[in-house]
Amino acid sequence: MQPSVFLGLAELAPELEIRFGEPMKNHTSFRVGGPAAALLLPKSVSELRAAASFLRREGIKHYVMGNGTNLLFPDEGYDGAVVKTAGVSAAEREGETLICAECGASMASVAVLARRACLAGFEFAHGIPGSVGGGVFMNAGAYGGEMAEVVSSAVWLDKDGREHESAGAELGFAYRHSNFTEADLILSARIRLRPGDGEAIAARMAELSEKRRASQPLDKPSAGSAFKRPKTGYAAALIDEAGLKGFRVGGAQVSEKHAGFVINAGGATAEDIIRLMDEVRAVVLKNSGVELEPEIRIIR
Ligand SMILES: Cc1cc2nc3c(=O)[nH]c(=O)nc-3n(C[C@H](O)[C@H](O)[C@H](O)COP(=O)(O)OP(=O)(O)OC[C@H]3O[C@@H](n4cnc5c(N)ncnc54)[C@H](O)[C@@H]3O)c2cc1C
Repeated sequence: MQPSVFLGLAELAPELEIRFGEPMKNHTSFRVGGPAAALLLPKSVSELRAAASFLRREGIKHYVMGNGTNLLFPDEGYDGAVVKTAGVSAAEREGETLICAECGASMASVAVLARRACLAGFEFAHGIPGSVGGGVFMNAGAYGGEMAEVVSSAVWLDKDGREHESAGAELGFAYRHSNFTEADLILSARIRLRPGDGEAIAARMAELSEKRRASQPLDKPSAGSAFKRPKTGYAAALIDEAGLKGFRVGGAQVSEKHAGFVINAGGATAEDIIRLMDEVRAVVLKNSGVELEPEIRIIR
C-alpha cells in the first residue's frame, strides 16, 4: 500500500499520525506481529471519525484495535490499515454515578477516576490492561465483575458509518462476547457505577492487584487467558491436568505459573503461538473431552 493512498486523509485530518510498515509487535502485549501496511494513531474522536470515514469511503481494508492486549497479528503482517484507538482516551465523570469514557481510555485509568470519585463497581477492571473499547467489545471481566454489568450505553458506528447510541442491554453481552463485529467502531461508553467508600474501593483494587500478581505471569508478554472458560471447569485446570504446563513450541509456552496463559517466553512467532494453541486444544480434547475455544483474537 502506497503512502500516497492516504493523501486524501491528510486533508481531512492534517495532524493524524500515520506510520507505514510499522511492526505490530510494538503495539501488542504479546510482542508478536509483523508490519502493518499503515498504522493510524488518532488522538481525538474527530480524528478517529475522519480516519474511519476515509477508510470506508476508499474501501481500504482495516482493523480497529484498542490497546492490543487480546490480539495476535500474523508474522507476515497486516496488508491494510490498523487503527489504534488507544490515543483517544478522555474520560470524565458525568452527573452523580456515570463516567463517560472515550474508546481508547484505559480500563485502569477509568478505575482510578471511579475511585477518586468514590464510585464503586469498576474495581474488577483495574487490572485488565485493555481499553474501554476493547473491554466493551470483549465484555471483559475478572473476579466476578464484567463490563455487561456496568455499561449503561455505547456510542458506535456500524460498517456503513451510521452512528448509534445503544443501551448496554441491547449490546448482546454474554461471557466474553458482545454483538459487535470487527466492522463496527465503538467511539465511547457510559459506565454506570454506584456511590461507595473511597477507602474500601482502593482496598478492593489493591487486593485484586495482589491476586493477579500472585497468580499470573505478568512479567512475560502474553494476551491474558488464551482460552475462554468452558461450560464445565476451567481452561487452566484442564490444561494442567493434560500435563501441558510449561509445554513449548518455539518461543511460545504454556505458562508454568498459570496454565491458562500462553506466554512469549522469548522470540515467539505468531506461528509458534497458533501451533501451540492448536496442540493444547487437541490434547485437552483427547484428555477430557472438552473443546477449548480461543479467547485471543487471531488476525489472519
Ligand atoms: C496480562 C493480561 C491480563 C488480562 N486479564 C484479563 C482479565 O482479567 N479479563 C479479561 O476479560 N481480559 C483480560 N485480558 C485480555 C484483554 O486485556 C481484554 O480482552 C481487553 O478487553 C482487550 O482490550 P484492548 O483494548 O487491548 O483490545 P484489543 O486487544 O486491541 O482488541 C480486542 C478486540 O476488541 C476490538 N476493539 C478494540 N477496540 C475497539 C473499538 N474502539 N471499536 C471496535 N472494536 C474494538 C478489536 O477489534 C478486537 O476484536 C488480559 C490481557 C493481558 C495481557
